[in-house]
Amino acid sequence: MSLDLETLFFASAISRCAYLVVFLVTALSQPGERCLWHWIGALLCSMIGAFITSRLPPTEDLDTVSAVLVYALFGASLSLSWSGLRFFYGLPVRLPFLGGLTLLPAAAYMFLHLAGASAQTSVSGVFLACMLLTALSIAEITKPSQQERLWSQYVVAAAFLCYFLVFAASVATIAFTDLTTRTMESGRLAIIIDQVTGILIYFGYLAMAGERANLGLRRLAETDLLTGLHNRRGLDSQAKRHGAQARTSLLIADIDHFKSINDTHGHQTGDMVLKAFAERMKAALRTGDIAVRWGGEEFLAVLPATTADQAAVIAERLRFATEQEPFQTASGPIAVTVSIGIADVERSEEDLQPATRRADAALYVAKSSGRNRVASAPDRAA
Ligand code: GH3
Ligand code: MG
Ligand code: MG
Repeated sequence: MSLDLETLFFASAISRCAYLVVFLVTALSQPGERCLWHWIGALLCSMIGAFITSRLPPTEDLDTVSAVLVYALFGASLSLSWSGLRFFYGLPVRLPFLGGLTLLPAAAYMFLHLAGASAQTSVSGVFLACMLLTALSIAEITKPSQQERLWSQYVVAAAFLCYFLVFAASVATIAFTDLTTRTMESGRLAIIIDQVTGILIYFGYLAMAGERANLGLRRLAETDLLTGLHNRRGLDSQAKRHGAQARTSLLIADIDHFKSINDTHGHQTGDMVLKAFAERMKAALRTGDIAVRWGGEEFLAVLPATTADQAAVIAERLRFATEQEPFQTASGPIAVTVSIGIADVERSEEDLQPATRRADAALYVAKSSGRNRVASAPDRAA
């Protein structure tokens, strides 16, 4: 099957117009997302650039003015893709740097053209500059410091890699062979590749925004608003993610006489104590432990790979950290103590429920034997 160039240009223009509409609707519904506006800019620049090049058969070289304009537009498209990614990841973008990147392909062309290079060689300078721009976007996505791992971003990275390889192949063709990139066949191929990678990149951007929004909503649904700890739903999903681990222990901590703090100082001060307690709890736990607001003034921690003895040490650390220093609140310092029950998860148990019940029973023992203490659930084998 051989598609004529006009059909290809038409399909390319139609699909880009469709992306533009979808992007505009998405960006207008989230005007604060600067990345979307940059990606719209990238799309517009590539549309205008493609429109100008479509007016000339691929066998002919663009005149110098059109060439500089088209390469500046393609430079802007790739640079805005990169800056959009930076904004997506919450990173700053320096405008002079962005401007420099935008002009790089056109500047490379002008430099080689003025130095007397052939049209083909001048174009290879453009391709080299575009390789650098696509590499920047790939680096932005695959940077090891990138905390948020979204599947959709790798689709975008793969599409940029495809662009990178096409530019590299074009540079190699010009540099090492007598072939020309200015043929009908290569023009057709370029449009097809641009179409496919364009779809992957622009749909990838939308998928990235959607995937992150979904993750955000899930995180919100699994987080306790007051303390920022996991709520019960969060515990369920954490437990599923980590699976069954050998020797898991858990503790349930209940603030002593919390009702009287509310009654004496007001509900807002009570909230401040809960928040501050959550901070002390996080500090007393280790990385990998899961801290949960179990409800009201009760907190639960799952301690993976922890024996009952080790759990007792951690629980004592939390008890001491609570008692040691009064909590600073708007109503002044308030002395707080906590009672803690601990239990270990038996190998035969499929979920945390039985251990939770045992930790609760141990907590009851800690409360009834005077509060401000740690009690362990009796060993089931005993
Ligand atoms: P004990 O030592 O036996 O645990 O006594 P307690 O007063 O801590 O326990 P009790 O169950 O009698 O009271 C818990 C109080 O916690 C009652 C409830 O109003 C309060 N509470 C529950 N959730 C919140 C909250 O989100 N904010 C505030 N400020 N208070 C809360
Ligand atoms: Mg309670
Ligand atoms: Mg209590």
